[in-house]
Amino acid sequence: MRRSRAFIPTTKEAPSDAQLASHIFLSRAGFISQVAAGLYSYMPLAKKVIRKIENIIHDEMANVGAEEVELSFVAPSDLWIESGRIDKFGKELLRFYDRKEKLFVLGPTHEEMMVDLVRNRVTSYKSLPLNLYQIKTKFRDEVRPRYGLMRGREFIMKDGYSFHASQEDLDREFEALEAAYKRIITRLGLDFRVVEADSGAIGGSGSKELMVIADSGEDTIAVCDKCEYGANVEVFLNMDQLDEDFDANSITDIKEVKGDDKCPECNGKLSLTKGIEVGHIFKLGTTYSDALKAKYLDENGKAQSFIMGTYGMGVSRLVAAVIEQHHDEFGCIWTKATAPYSINIMVSNIKNEAQNTLGEELYLKLLGENVEVMLDDRKERFGFKMKDAELIGFPYTVIIGKELDNGTVEIYERKTRKKTTVLAGDIYERIMELV
Ligand code: ATP
Ligand code: MG
Repeated sequence: MRRSRAFIPTTKEAPSDAQLASHIFLSRAGFISQVAAGLYSYMPLAKKVIRKIENIIHDEMANVGAEEVELSFVAPSDLWIESGRIDKFGKELLRFYDRKEKLFVLGPTHEEMMVDLVRNRVTSYKSLPLNLYQIKTKFRDEVRPRYGLMRGREFIMKDGYSFHASQEDLDREFEALEAAYKRIITRLGLDFRVVEADSGAIGGSGSKELMVIADSGEDTIAVCDKCEYGANVEVFLNMDQLDEDFDANSITDIKEVKGDDKCPECNGKLSLTKGIEVGHIFKLGTTYSDALKAKYLDENGKAQSFIMGTYGMGVSRLVAAVIEQHHDEFGCIWTKATAPYSINIMVSNIKNEAQNTLGEELYLKLLGENVEVMLDDRKERFGFKMKDAELIGFPYTVIIGKELDNGTVEIYERKTRKKTTVLAGDIYERIMELV
């Protein structure tokens, strides 16, 4: 892409309510634009990042034999009445009437819709297991939408649902999905922990969360320094003790509730850290299939409720989580797998013919190799363009400047902010090694 033609409206000012780095930098660097509370438009850079995350998810879902579907965003309220969730979900569920005065909801999650899709279509144990997923906009009228993409009202979620004929088969699928989710977050370049999410679930959980480690995380998690064990602190809480005044973020509160700080798995030392919940996998059992009367015939021809699992991942929240974990005072630092462009070519003075020619040549050559490359060909000052590049967070910027007279250019690495001098003749090979 040529920067002179790109729609990347960077600004000096952050939204007045922005506190988190991701909210500030994604807004300032021209990734997202707030439309109303909890509603955002994604601009081209954000779309690119989202697509990258989605591609990795699709890839890993194919690996575990999950199939993609797409369910309607608008759901008939009847299904929600049938499952009994219409009241439980309360005001988070946005409801409205169509012209025939029929009540609908905007899907905040799709258990009902998915069960409805499968029931009466899958009728035999022979067709099980089944794992269906989608990546789709969700709507939850959150009480306090905030922190930019971290807690939107409209947001993108990968939601998957599996159907089984036995608990053992669900257990197997759950493990496979946990492994797939770990691979996704690892491939995105994020430091994370899988934690027990369910209260009373210590030692063999039916509910796990994937937490991206970041100081700004809303969740407090206890992690073992010896083994892989981790748990949302909510797990340690006797729910009766959870009252209005309880502050889950206060270490003293947790110690009081818990009494000690030993790992239940290996007796190692537990310490507390902050995490962003980017994924949640859950063994549902027959809750929804019972409620919605979704049954299959078992080997003996007997009708049984599907045993189900549900697997959610916050795609738009992941965009924010990358930046929460990877930024500095100057802006975003995208990981290799998430960067909207891997290389930015900066022609320092576009009136200089030699600089311009090399920039163009390199740009076209990289495009030819399918490298995601930006050419900053704007008639702006070098310092201005450099600040912009740092704010956006391209992993590498090739600086073609005055030194070209001596036959060299520079590669600037965003993460370290270090420049390396490279012979102009070697720059193409060097870049191909980096991407
Ligand atoms: P939270 O406790 O953060 O509200 P949740 O328990 O309601 O999350 P789930 O219903 O398990 O979330 O949804 C699956 C995933 O969708 C979450 O792990 C999270 O990554 C993402 N998610 C949920 N709510 C939002 C939101 N308001 N904005 C962005 N992402 C969200
Ligand atoms: Mg929620």
